[in-house]
Amino acid sequence: MSEIKERDNLYVAGTYARFPVEIVSGKGSEAWDVNGKRYIDMGSGIGVTAFGYADEEWVAAVTKQLNTVQHTSNLYYTEPCGKLAKILCERTGMKKVFFCNSGAEANECAIKAIRKYAAEKKGPDCYTVVTLKNSFHGRTLTTLAATGQDHYHELFQPLTPGFAHIEAGTDLNELKELAKTTKIAGVIIECIQGEGGVLVTDPGFVKALADYCKAEDIILAVGEVQTGNGRTGMLYAYMNYGITPDVVTTAKGIGGGLPLGACMLGEKVQNVLGHGDHGSTFGGNPVACAGGVSIMERLDDTMLAKVRDKGDYVREALKGAAGVESVSGMGLMIGVKTTKPAGEVVKACVDRGVLFLTAKDKVRMLPALNIPMENLKEAVEILRTVCAE
Ligand SMILES: *Cc1c(COP(=O)(O)O)cnc(C)c1O
Repeated sequence: MSEIKERDNLYVAGTYARFPVEIVSGKGSEAWDVNGKRYIDMGSGIGVTAFGYADEEWVAAVTKQLNTVQHTSNLYYTEPCGKLAKILCERTGMKKVFFCNSGAEANECAIKAIRKYAAEKKGPDCYTVVTLKNSFHGRTLTTLAATGQDHYHELFQPLTPGFAHIEAGTDLNELKELAKTTKIAGVIIECIQGEGGVLVTDPGFVKALADYCKAEDIILAVGEVQTGNGRTGMLYAYMNYGITPDVVTTAKGIGGGLPLGACMLGEKVQNVLGHGDHGSTFGGNPVACAGGVSIMERLDDTMLAKVRDKGDYVREALKGAAGVESVSGMGLMIGVKTTKPAGEVVKACVDRGVLFLTAKDKVRMLPALNIPMENLKEAVEILRTVCAE
């Protein structure tokens, strides 16, 4: 075993089952390991490196800021933070943005906004936040409580109370039944459950839920940590659904590789969090935000149309292929149910120089949004070959 792997295994907490691959360099959608072997990257660090490795525009934006002011804390003004917040608000219709450093923190902020809005408006006994079964919202104790998958909860009890999980069905009966006995403060959904297996939430259900929340003055938050920032071929996945949420949380791709999360607050909740109600030392860091600005500025209609086209290409190329049972997702967020176990398929692809992800029983892809067609074709061809063997 190499020195790097051995040291890592000895000293880094054993929370990750790493592939036996040591990445030493990358450019665009290609990466090289310590032995000089080339890989096509179809995972982009779990949807983070939105424009690939060592992307020149992003690197320039980040280093320019790095060479001026790298951090001030939130006691002072810096330019990138407000600039990114303005872009996000203008492009979503949200009114204010709280910046943090991860998806879990963005969801924590959403939960605090929901709780405070409901406490002030409906009283302190209205606090329950409803999420969907099979959802994923993060690893902190509160976002774990929000996550609707029991296996993440075992041995970490007690989690934060005040959460309930409903089936992402086609009607609202379960939610309405729950509302008879429980005061509901807010609902958090993913439009596509990423960690849950790249499952697209039913549009009729989402629309009915949005209408219900509006009528009942229940805060609707959408978790766009994975689906956001162009991933589905729209700027945010909820835009595929024709709804207007009250809160939008995001992270992953917005940072392009640096830790950056955002909780966007819509009209109803825009002023709920006041001085001292929430905070983060690193949140809104100027370097991360400068990178975020460069990413958002490139996510224009042309880029988003290309994301949709490339996603269509992948779906077409895999539909009906030998060893492929189904293909799910939107844009460049794609899940492939393979006849062989997904883990086996991904391992075989690593051997052949393509890095895919898994999500539950599926092979998952979240390539860079600007992945060149030749990389995409090569990766899909290798996946087809492996699936057919
Ligand atoms: C990744 C992810 C999170 C957690 O993000 P972290 O940055 O790891 O805290 C939350 N929600 C969704 C939908 C995610 O995909």
